[in-house]
Amino acid sequence: MDEIAADPSHPRYASLLMRHRLEEAEKKGMLAASAMIAHGRGEAFDYLLGEVTTPSALKATRHALASMVQGKRTVLSVNGNVAALASDEMLTLASELGCPLEVNIFYRTPERMEAILGHISERKRILGLDVEVLGHAPNARIPGLKGPRAACHKEGILESDVILVPLEDGDRCRALMEMGKTVIVIDLNPRSRSAREGTITIVDELSRALKNMIAMLADKVAVVVDEQYDNHATLDMALEWMLNTLKHE
Ligand code: ATP
Repeated sequence: MDEIAADPSHPRYASLLMRHRLEEAEKKGMLAASAMIAHGRGEAFDYLLGEVTTPSALKATRHALASMVQGKRTVLSVNGNVAALASDEMLTLASELGCPLEVNIFYRTPERMEAILGHISERKRILGLDVEVLGHAPNARIPGLKGPRAACHKEGILESDVILVPLEDGDRCRALMEMGKTVIVIDLNPRSRSAREGTITIVDELSRALKNMIAMLADKVAVVVDEQYDNHATLDMALEWMLNTLKHE
């Protein structure tokens, strides 16, 4: 799956690997036309972060994970870019948490849904994981959203209390917040609407953040809810980190 020409010692290896995954997903018909633009926006912010997980992102990650562990009906939402970049990590996390994945995309077409669900089911089989994957037969709608983007599963996103929405669009993030859910966003842009409106925002690259969560669960690191958690402070710290990284170069 991940055969790329670059050597792992190449300074941009991780970035090249992610681009390669998107190219492969594009060939399979998993991506929306704007997928590469969304990825490019993320890459630019990751450059400013120095392509590292910052201490404040790690703190947000731990708090988010604790919230997912405590959730009564936690659901992990997957769109085209997430499936392309981190299907294995999303499946592993869902398996560890014992919660479902739901494929929920902004530009919904039967062909894209089938391509994404097919890719996830192939990775699930290869990894040998027992995870419930939803999205194939939506039977409910997210209130406040119009058109096919509102479609979801009643037993998945609709009735969830805690939801992980990596790389989410601002409208859907707001609609989920208005339903009273704990909305966990992973987004490299601390100024995006989703980042600013979510309950907990992890300003980190998707696969890095997911790997950190999986490692925390494996290491049995104390994963406890941070009662003092302040999401605006987390976003400010991400911006400060970016400014300081630039200043020191
Ligand atoms: P919003 O509607 O929330 O303001 P947006 O319009 O900027 O967001 P979209 O284009 O819908 O965003 O989604 C892309 C978002 O995902 C961007 O904010 C981008 O920074 C972020 N992003 C892209 N790739 C990654 C990645 N690999 N890891 C984390 N974030 C990413």
